Amino acid sequence: MNLARSLAVLLALSLSLAARAAPPDPIEVAVDAAWEKYRTLQEGKNADYIPALARVDPKLYGISVVTVDGKVFEKGDVAARFSIQSISKVFTLASVIEHSGAKAVLDKIGVDATGQVFNSIVAIEQHKGAEMNPFVNPGAIATTSLVEGATGEEKWARILAIHEEAAGRKLTVDETVYRSEAATNGRNQAIAKLMQAYGRLYFDPGESTDIYTRQCAISVNVHDLAVMAATLANGGRNPVTGKQVVSSANVPRILAIMATAGLYDDSGIWLYQVGLPGKSGVGGGILAVAPGRFGIAVFSPPLDATGNSVRAQRAIRDVSSALDANPYSVKARKGQAP
Ligand code: GLN
Repeated sequence: MNLARSLAVLLALSLSLAARAAPPDPIEVAVDAAWEKYRTLQEGKNADYIPALARVDPKLYGISVVTVDGKVFEKGDVAARFSIQSISKVFTLASVIEHSGAKAVLDKIGVDATGQVFNSIVAIEQHKGAEMNPFVNPGAIATTSLVEGATGEEKWARILAIHEEAAGRKLTVDETVYRSEAATNGRNQAIAKLMQAYGRLYFDPGESTDIYTRQCAISVNVHDLAVMAATLANGGRNPVTGKQVVSSANVPRILAIMATAGLYDDSGIWLYQVGLPGKSGVGGGILAVAPGRFGIAVFSPPLDATGNSVRAQRAIRDVSSALDANPYSVKARKGQAP
């Protein structure tokens, strides 16, 4: 054997040893497989009731997983920016529950699923503004109205701050999306007024709706959402920055509302199939939390009839199932007496 040949054999041997020593992480395998599986899926349609959302490229598709020890696994359009929309409801709730306490959320907003679409006026009428929850628009605008602060500016500063702490970086508002929604949000303005009429709004209705519209236009990428989800998975502490964003005692309460109302009136189907508390936005993002393990987020703009991203739902379901992440799924113990 000449020298070049034996060197080549040695190199091949060490490469194969290295490959054996470091098999790919199962999370990486699951993320890659889910991304590939739904890459060409074309079901669903961008939200179009907010004109700026109809113009987003429907082909954009990214998956990000961030573990509670800060490891990151991602694939696809990870840097693409989009508006956070209803996912902001989770972090505005976090701000209110931290400042005003769990009882205030229960008494002043409510925590039961309405069983109605997220911007239902029938749901308000049914309960005279009571028994909403922070993830349907009436309860969400009421939650925004409850954020600490004497002025709209103070409330907005707190809302932006908690989003930034959960994402671990400075965030900005997509002004095009904000203006587009502000010009067409008559229904949300009506919802806020009606909630005020029932004594269930805690700040000026016009200003509350405007701040709510602004929070929905916060610009994020799928990595930001995964870090935000991982913060909840990690007992409220951002696993990348180490900052305690939400107290550990409040996290299970936030996750409970995500489980019952995070995917609107399809929340039951979602929990049945996936088991992870999640939250979707009409911008095409969904985040989900595997408590004690990881946060996952997927971005893909086309939505189903309920308003949830089609590819995001399927990709999260696949990754969660591949990693056995359903917190309700427990192996039976062996050897116990019947
Ligand atoms: N800003 C949107 C609205 O209020 C958010 C809705 C959503 O993401 N489901 O209609």
